[in-house]
Amino acid sequence: MLRKRKYVFDTDNLQFMQHRRNRGEKLLRFSLLFALSIVATLVYSVIFHRFFGSPKEELLQQRVDELKLSYTLLEKQIDRSSLAVAELRSSDNISYRTILDMPQIPADISEGGSGGTNRLADLTGYMNSDIMMKVRLKFDNLKTQTNIQYNSLTDLTERATEWKEMWAHLPFIRPVNVTMRLGDGMKFRERHPVLGSPRWHFGQDFRCPEGTEVHATGAGIVAYAGNQRDGFGIKVVIDHGYGYRTIYGHLSEYNVRRGQKVTRGDFIGLSGNTGTSTGPHLHYQIDLFGEHVNPLWYFEDGLTEDEYFRMLDYLTKP
Ligand SMILES: [Zn+2]
Repeated sequence: MLRKRKYVFDTDNLQFMQHRRNRGEKLLRFSLLFALSIVATLVYSVIFHRFFGSPKEELLQQRVDELKLSYTLLEKQIDRSSLAVAELRSSDNISYRTILDMPQIPADISEGGSGGTNRLADLTGYMNSDIMMKVRLKFDNLKTQTNIQYNSLTDLTERATEWKEMWAHLPFIRPVNVTMRLGDGMKFRERHPVLGSPRWHFGQDFRCPEGTEVHATGAGIVAYAGNQRDGFGIKVVIDHGYGYRTIYGHLSEYNVRRGQKVTRGDFIGLSGNTGTSTGPHLHYQIDLFGEHVNPLWYFEDGLTEDEYFRMLDYLTKP
């Protein structure tokens, strides 16, 4: 490009001479141009920002969008987890707590939701405070519910262990082989077969030949083994805890000693005809807190209801 040249009329030489700028003029000219370019840049950038935004701003906006998306995804995950915890609670209430005879987890406790809005103070004043608070509340609620569920599971496990322990101790099987016929059950005898006077019969008799193996019907500790001359002849008494005692009477022999620990099914002695008895049989009695209960109710032995009644029919056949 051709540089513009400035000419001035030199009156001394009477001719046009090329004008050469001095340093001051050059500096002034450069400063003016520089200032103008800065103003132009400013105007340009203001206009550009109004309509387009800088690349850095765009990046930041992208980041904000990503974070919002993360929050939305997180919220969905929390919702799904809350639903899973609610299902756990429901199955705890319907199945385990019902079976184990425990109180239900009430809905208001299990919903969690305690604490108020003070704990959200640190989330106020932001552009997206509402999203952050919503997610925080849901997460806190999930945390509370999970804690409640965890404690509930611990309680259930403890209770189940207690029940398993109790189950092992309760007198739930028959003391002699199932093929034996039942004799007299719990009933009022107008005339005692030996004594002749009317009196209650507080147990279940099993007609069985002398020498039939007799088994502990639940875990416990032998409270007595011997002959107390109380009509039962040689007898074994087992304390099962939980208020239960079983008595095995008219034995010919006993195989345990006082204080011995037994578990369900242990061989404790042989049936016989000792004491006040008219023939070989086992007298089996269950006392619950000192009250006599009907042993027939306790021959659960893992049978279904149908099997249980079929067994009773079979055992009581004459
Ligand atoms: Zn009896």
